[in-house]
Amino acid sequence: MRYSQLLLPTLKENPAEAEVVSHRLLLRAGFIRKLASGIYSYLPLGLAAIRKVEHIVREEMNRAGAQELLLPVVQPADLWLESGRWLKYGPELLRFKDRHNRESCLGPTHEEVITDLVRMNVHSYRALPLNLYQIQTKFRDEIRPRFGLMRGREFIMKDAYSFDVDEDGANVAYRKMSDAYHRIFKRCGLSFRAVEADTGTIGGDFSHEFMVLADTGEDTLAICKAKGGGCGYSANLEKAVGAAPKAPEPEVELLPLEKIETPGKRKVVAVTAFLDVSPKQLVKTMVYMADGKPVAVLVRGDHEVQEVKLKNMLGAVDVELADDQQIYDATGVPSGYLGPVGIKIPLVADREIEVMRNFAIGGGEKNYHLLNANLGRDFEVGQIGDLREVTSDDLCPLCNGELEFTKGIEVGHIFKLGTNYSEVLNATYSDQDGQEKHFVMGCYGIGVSRIVAAAIEQNHDDDGIIFPVPLAPFQVVVLNLSPSDPEITDAAEIVYRGLQDHGLDILLDDRDERPGIKFKDADLVGIPYRVTVGKGFAKDGTVEIRTRRDGQTVSLPLAEVVAHLTARINDEMADLAK
Ligand code: ATP
Ligand code: MG
Repeated sequence: MRYSQLLLPTLKENPAEAEVVSHRLLLRAGFIRKLASGIYSYLPLGLAAIRKVEHIVREEMNRAGAQELLLPVVQPADLWLESGRWLKYGPELLRFKDRHNRESCLGPTHEEVITDLVRMNVHSYRALPLNLYQIQTKFRDEIRPRFGLMRGREFIMKDAYSFDVDEDGANVAYRKMSDAYHRIFKRCGLSFRAVEADTGTIGGDFSHEFMVLADTGEDTLAICKAKGGGCGYSANLEKAVGAAPKAPEPEVELLPLEKIETPGKRKVVAVTAFLDVSPKQLVKTMVYMADGKPVAVLVRGDHEVQEVKLKNMLGAVDVELADDQQIYDATGVPSGYLGPVGIKIPLVADREIEVMRNFAIGGGEKNYHLLNANLGRDFEVGQIGDLREVTSDDLCPLCNGELEFTKGIEVGHIFKLGTNYSEVLNATYSDQDGQEKHFVMGCYGIGVSRIVAAAIEQNHDDDGIIFPVPLAPFQVVVLNLSPSDPEITDAAEIVYRGLQDHGLDILLDDRDERPGIKFKDADLVGIPYRVTVGKGFAKDGTVEIRTRRDGQTVSLPLAEVVAHLTARINDEMADLAK
């Protein structure tokens, strides 16, 4: 491609609306433009990078035995009513009516549509296993679209769905997809990690997320760092658990409950300082609104409630911390003094409370707390389980090693669905004995457009993007520093065509611009290799090759450039594909 003919509107200034580096650079480097909140046009370079991701995804999905198809974006409400998700999905699902007043939605994901397709068209165990995928625009009316391609409302996803005769088959399909995902993200040149994850609104038995490691990631990962590189345990904070709490010493004597006046002491820090107890000896009573109904949650004073775990325990679609007024309305107690004894709303507790003895709690009336409270003697809870966020004090649940925390960007998510969808949608096949059985399913997503943003978060410097070779819209940019000089122009053309003849994607900067501008734009756009044809060529027939990542340069005679670069690029790609 010739730069002079390319729509590549680079910006000198940082756009004010961009908070993270990938968003900033995608705008500045002319890859994307915003149309509306969370909705972007992909300009030629943006689309080229996306196509590179798609190509890798396709190759690996096909290699794993999946088949590509393309499902409709518009989906009828009926199917979603049948699966039960029309009510459960919430406002992220963009719903609308057509001219006949029929309700529809824009597909945020396609479990319903694919299960419907398969139940209509696959009837026998002989047609199984089956894995079907598509690469398509999805729409989710995200509450907080932000960070450019990272969290859009409209974005490109690869989604795959597997259908098997039984659990064993579904587990094999899951493992195949996990292997394919490892290969995909490696081939993209990303530093990533697979972690145990919550199954969210998709539902299912278990799931793993693939996380690109970057400080700007919205997710926090807990990773075992036991000596020798950790035992392999890694989980999203939404899902991560610590080692089981230690059982209390059996001889601990239960002391009598004691009511203490604690005027104005509402927060953990103030209460524990006043009572002279450690936050580890206090139990907080938090109130959440679960689908609009209040529920009280007990956690140790130094712990935080993990809302996803709470949502799962309660089977709620949405949980939100209650405000002071909601707390008072629901319990008759001002916030800060609420406690589990005599509480009027449903009560659940984190499992840590089970092993605590003689702890402090809110007194259930203004300006009072209670000392020496004990579960079972002074109050009961409706449900108890792991409800809190793990901390750096927790140990690995598998090996008791230390845990470390790091930030990640979710680029892929695989789910073992089991028969959740095939049961509600009654999707069956007949087995060898002619019996009707439900398909055992899995689903597997990749955020294709998000990968481009994640790659930039991981690969950039002050001058711009540093694309990993496999994702770069162009692998090489050839700078013609004197377009008015026929000799230099001829030489630049020779390199440009020679590299193109080897199947590489090449940008020829043939603009009538100052060299400084060409260097700056080449760096900003992040093309991995730069070939400069200028003064050096006029002097001794050499051109300069510079690597974007480390700035290393080498000067070679014109005739050697194509072979040199082709070999380096092919080697790099082959290494990642090993
Ligand atoms: P998140 O927790 O980031 O909202 P999710 O769990 O809702 O993601 P999935 O339903 O598993 O995402 O979708 C599959 C993949 O699609 C995700 O792993 C992610 O890479 C990508 N993705 C999801 N939502 C968005 C979005 N709003 N913008 C861009 N990519 C997205
Ligand atoms: Mg989401």
